[in-house]
Amino acid sequence: MKKPWIAAAWVLMLSLLIGCGAEIPAEKERMAVQEDSLPVYGAEELPGEFILGMDVSSVLAEERSGVKYYDFDGTERDLFAILAANGINTIRVRIWNDPFDKDGNGYGGGNCDIGAACEIGRRAADNEMKLLVDFHYSDFWADPGKQFAPKAWRDMDIGEKTEALRSFTEESLRALLDVGASIRMVQIGNEINSGLAGETEWQNICRLLEAGAEAVRETCPEAMVAVHFTDPQRAGSFSWYAETLAHYGVDYDVFASSYYPCWHGTQENLSAVLSDIARTFGKKVMVMETAYAHTLKDSDCFANTVSEDTFAEEPYPFTVQGQADFVNDMIDTAACMEKGIGVCYWEGAWIAVGTRSREENSEKWNQYGSGWASGFAAEYDPEDAGRYWGGSAVDNQAFFDAQGHALESLKAFSAANAGERPEEVTASGK
Ligand code: CA
Repeated sequence: MKKPWIAAAWVLMLSLLIGCGAEIPAEKERMAVQEDSLPVYGAEELPGEFILGMDVSSVLAEERSGVKYYDFDGTERDLFAILAANGINTIRVRIWNDPFDKDGNGYGGGNCDIGAACEIGRRAADNEMKLLVDFHYSDFWADPGKQFAPKAWRDMDIGEKTEALRSFTEESLRALLDVGASIRMVQIGNEINSGLAGETEWQNICRLLEAGAEAVRETCPEAMVAVHFTDPQRAGSFSWYAETLAHYGVDYDVFASSYYPCWHGTQENLSAVLSDIARTFGKKVMVMETAYAHTLKDSDCFANTVSEDTFAEEPYPFTVQGQADFVNDMIDTAACMEKGIGVCYWEGAWIAVGTRSREENSEKWNQYGSGWASGFAAEYDPEDAGRYWGGSAVDNQAFFDAQGHALESLKAFSAANAGERPEEVTASGK
């Protein structure tokens, strides 16, 4: 997620000029979806192992900041229980090597180190959900704009870094298994279009990928190994990456893509390019990250990536109904891809930690790591986090309102597994 922060940054500057300007939803305000209009797809058409995933990497920081989550009837419940009850079968969690400064202050974004991942993995397992492990191999966000090596790896040559990555992967996965996590998939790197752990030469990147894959095979042989790219709209790029990985003999099972409709073209194109990878290279494919806004309102005094000021033209309305319809269509798109195995929604519970003021929220973002970046991240990422640190840029893409009440759109996941799939959709086969 590089572009979101950039987009958020300039909107943030505007909002700072004019004051917070956030229109805070009223207490107990609920947003309804027209359930009758939800298309529902047949359970017999979604394989039992089809991944209906949710990334909730920020949840522990959110909870420490005082965020609570409520079921549709207003009952406070554990977030994981709510998600499991609504058809989510897989929880995705990012892992950063060391997202803290020398004094132990967290960089933010959930402060997602292996300890946080273990707690999330355990709670997922307690609710009979599997875990999708997202190694960034960095101390903070890794995406097409930055793939900084972890602090401890900065002075390593490629041979040393390869062994460090292998050891870190093995040790992290063992720690997750020790707490009872049910590891379904492990992705080696996050949106690695431009590099991995500070390496930009593909020969070196592939050495790192191969070491990571070997570590997964050795430590948890049941898990699928995934590679994760983004920008599916760039013609020919995915086949180039897949050919490059094949050239260097990288061993993996799943070729995954991010898909945010405001930047990444049409779902038809996404389906075409991933299906082509599946047919040509024999890999499973999936949508590793996606999200859609249910409102254009911001609720935490930190500008959102999708707002009135940024992407106003979208294929669905920015309503709870629009969000539900988007989720249904994404599941349909992924299920109909050649070797399509799932969809994972990104950070569907990263809501406001407070509603009163940016100053008040900033204290929580810094203390608990519940914003996208804290002020402490400047030492590691001065150009982006150092200048634009703050809260959630995706609170309007969550499945909970600003007070933590579940939105009706969350029901889209279980609805996708509960009804009849139209004939014309299943006809493409897979
Ligand atoms: Ca926000």
